[in-house]
Amino acid sequence: MSREYETVIGLEVHVELATKTKIFCGCSTQFGGDVNTHTCPVCTGMPGSLPVLNKQVVEYAIAVGLATNCEITRHGKFDRKNYFYPDNPQNYQISQLYLPICRNGYVEIETEKGGAKKVGIHEIHMEEDAGKLIHDEWGDVSLVDYNRSGVPLIEIVSEPDMRSAEEVIAYLEKLRMFIQYLGASDCKLQEGSMRADVNLSVRPVGSDKFGTRTEMKNLNSFTAITHAIENERERQIDIIEAGGSVIQETRRFDDNKGESYAMRSKEDAQDYRYFPDPDLIPLDVSQEWIDRIKSEQPEFRPQKMARYKEEYGIPEYDIGIITDNKHMADIFEEATRICGQPKKVSNWLMVETLRLLKEKNMDPEDIRYSPAHLAALIDLVEKKVINSSVAKEVFERMFEDDTDPVKYVEEKGLKQETDSGAIKAICEQVIADNPQSVADYKAGKEKAIGFLVGQTMKAAKGKADPGTVNALLKELLS
Ligand code: ADP
Ligand code: MG
Ligand code: ZN
Repeated sequence: MSREYETVIGLEVHVELATKTKIFCGCSTQFGGDVNTHTCPVCTGMPGSLPVLNKQVVEYAIAVGLATNCEITRHGKFDRKNYFYPDNPQNYQISQLYLPICRNGYVEIETEKGGAKKVGIHEIHMEEDAGKLIHDEWGDVSLVDYNRSGVPLIEIVSEPDMRSAEEVIAYLEKLRMFIQYLGASDCKLQEGSMRADVNLSVRPVGSDKFGTRTEMKNLNSFTAITHAIENERERQIDIIEAGGSVIQETRRFDDNKGESYAMRSKEDAQDYRYFPDPDLIPLDVSQEWIDRIKSEQPEFRPQKMARYKEEYGIPEYDIGIITDNKHMADIFEEATRICGQPKKVSNWLMVETLRLLKEKNMDPEDIRYSPAHLAALIDLVEKKVINSSVAKEVFERMFEDDTDPVKYVEEKGLKQETDSGAIKAICEQVIADNPQSVADYKAGKEKAIGFLVGQTMKAAKGKADPGTVNALLKELLS
C-alpha cells in the first residue's frame, strides 16, 4: 500500500555562525564558559539596552546566500518575534520575517539514480539564539544560562522539494560543505551548531496537491533524521489509510524509542505578533560589498575534486578524503606547492594524520602542523637524511606541537649514517657475530639476510638506510 504515497520534505536548518562575538553585543560566543559569564545588559534583555548589529554576521549570511545561488536583499530589516519563554530574556527574538537577507536560491544534489536535482532555498534569515534552561534534578527549580543568548544564527529554509531521506542527507551534506568551506560555521549536528527541523507530508503518487505536514525538531544526527523520516512517513500513511487526517503540529522524535510524540500544535506567523524592530536601523547592503564577498568565495569541493584529479593525479579515494575538510585540503595544497610531491603529501595525510586524529579523538580542523614542516619532513626522507621509521617518529612529534623536523632531527641526532665505511664496519661485526645466519644464507636461505639487516639496523640505532645495508651485506657475503 505505502508505495503509492510520495513523501514531501522541506527543511528549516539553523546554523550557529563562527563569529567571535554575539549578533547584537560584544559578548563572547565561546562555548562552555561558566554560566552567565558571557553576558551583558543587551543579551540578558535589560530594559533600555540597545542592540548593535555585528557586521560579520551579515557577511557570513551573504556568503552562504551567494554559495547557494540566492538573491541578496539590498534593503533589509530585522523584526521582533514575540513569545514568552524564560530562555528568551527580552520576551521577543530578533529575527527577520518580511525582508530576509537572502531569497530564491537553490542547492544542487546528486540523487540516488545518479542525476542532479535542484533543491530550492526559499530564504535565509539572520536571528539570535536563545539561552539554555537547566532543569535541576534535585530541587523544584529550573535555572537559565544566557551565555548562548544572542549567539548569531542563520536559518536556511528550503522549498518542499525533497522526496526521501537520502535526498535530505545529500542536501544537508551539501549545505554543510558550503558553510564549512566558507568558515561560517563548523556545522556539528551533535553539538548543535547545525540543527535541522524536518517538515514532512505524504500524498498519493501523481497528486499535485501537498498533504498536511508535521514538523520534527531536535534531530541531532543523520541517523536520527533518517529514522524520523521513515517513521513519520509510515505514521502519516497509517492515519490516512485508516480514514483520518494528519494534524499540523510539531512533533519530537525519540530515536531510542523509535517513535515520535506531539509537542504542540503549529503556530502561525500571526501568533508571534511580528513587527519591525524599532531599535535597529534598516540594513542597507551595497553592491560593492556583495561583489567583494563574491570575489572572496573559496573554490568549493566539487571544483576542487575535479582540479585535484587533473592537476595532481592522486587517487580519487585520496581526493575524496582530503577535500572533505577544507583545512586538510589547504594543508595538502600548500605542502605540495613547497615540496612538489602530491602523492607523498597525500600519504602522510591519509595514513599517519588520520591515524593520529582518530587515536587522539580530534577533528581534521584541529591539525596543528604547518604545511611547510610536512614538506620539510618529506624532503628529509627523499634526500635519505632519515629513513621512514625515523620519519614516523618525527611526524608524531610534529603532529603534537608543529616541531620543525629539520631542527628536531639535528638536535636528536637522528640523521642516517651516511659514512659507508662506518656502516660497512657494523655489517662486518654483525656477520662475525652471527655465523649460523651467515651459514643459512650461504646455504640458500634467502630469508636469513632479513635477520642480518635487522641486526645491523639495531646496531646502527635505526639510523642506517635498510636498502643500503641489505646491498652491503649481500656484497660482503658473496
Ligand atoms: P511556516 O511559515 O509555518 O514556518 P513555511 O511555509 O515557512 O511554514 O514552511 C516551513 C517549511 O516547511 C519549509 O521548509 C517548507 O519547505 C516546508 N513545507 C511547507 N509545506 C510543506 C508540506 N506540505 N510538506 C512538507 N514540507 C512542507
Ligand atoms: Mg518557517
Ligand atoms: Zn551581551
